[in-house]
Amino acid sequence: ASAALLVLSLTACGQEARGGSRYRPEAGKGGTIGLAMPTKSSERWIADGRNMAEQFRRAGYRTDLQYGDDKVENQVAQIENMIAKGDRLLVIAAINGSALTEVLQRAHDAGIHVISYDRLILGTPYVDYYASFDNEKVGRLQGQYILDRLKLGKPDRDADEHYNIELFAGSPNDNNTKYFWSGAMKVLGPYFDSGQLVVRSKQTKMNQATTQDWNGGIAQKRMDDLISKSYGDQKVDAVLSPYDGMSIGIISALKSAGYHAGDLPVVTGQDAELASVKSIIRGEQTQTVFKDTRKLAAEAVSMGDAVLHGRKPKVNNTTDYANGKKTVPSFLLKPVSVDRSNTRLLVDEGYFTAGQLK
Ligand code: BGC
Repeated sequence: ASAALLVLSLTACGQEARGGSRYRPEAGKGGTIGLAMPTKSSERWIADGRNMAEQFRRAGYRTDLQYGDDKVENQVAQIENMIAKGDRLLVIAAINGSALTEVLQRAHDAGIHVISYDRLILGTPYVDYYASFDNEKVGRLQGQYILDRLKLGKPDRDADEHYNIELFAGSPNDNNTKYFWSGAMKVLGPYFDSGQLVVRSKQTKMNQATTQDWNGGIAQKRMDDLISKSYGDQKVDAVLSPYDGMSIGIISALKSAGYHAGDLPVVTGQDAELASVKSIIRGEQTQTVFKDTRKLAAEAVSMGDAVLHGRKPKVNNTTDYANGKKTVPSFLLKPVSVDRSNTRLLVDEGYFTAGQLK
């Protein structure tokens, strides 16, 4: 049965846990780790959960993996349950970064350590460490990609050419949203000022562009509205989209409005989800940001193992992630921009098989 499970998990989306030592501490001896993930509606979180479960197991722990279906109350109940069952450590990718203060007070009272996974947990001192990617860089990569594709050099107020762009932001309750947005705005801002990039809808503020739960259907609906209200005979040249699932929705709206591969705008994304990588290969979505969830899982596992052994985990950022109560020591991995020219990288890295990308 376990061989069958392994095969299943390897083929689910090609993101098997990497390497791992041959050393196998006695199974489950380290106690149970509670893994609270936000949703199964996106491939990446399924992979994150599976990768951590496999890697914690290899390090000698049992795991209790739960998904909150994007509902805060589910996630809180799941964490309460983990505390009640005596899990030794919690690794949490929060649905709403601000909604865990009370439950983490309880975790603290029970002597349970907490690692904030990918998304920073806010408003509580009871977060020990944070493992994520350089989230601001994700936004800068998306913004810079748009500039490069539109061949925009230095900002130039006298330039004749201008391009129409529309902007999307992530879920308003996810702390990462503002980092992605501000990274992109740092890069794009000077071109709004010079007039080379024009947001015809005038929806230029983050709170006008957020997308509840990163929902692709909501993004699609908003793109439909933007096109019908602000475009008429004008064309959209670029869309800043922070997440692949939204990019797919945005592209559907554009196709319904008559765009097709070949004249679609530049559309960014994030996560290198299979549907989006295939879309990039087909010439529809233009770019994504690859964040290797296997490496993030490995960081969280090594942080957790260190904390449980009273050792200090390795961190590389102690300044940027303040949560309102403390600056959480962080380990940030590097995101990588992927477009049609380098999708091969995903195969070389073993993230997908060549067959999956056909
Ligand atoms: C993650 C992204 C992901 C998004 C939607 C964010 O918190 O950092 O990788 O695209 O959530 O799931």
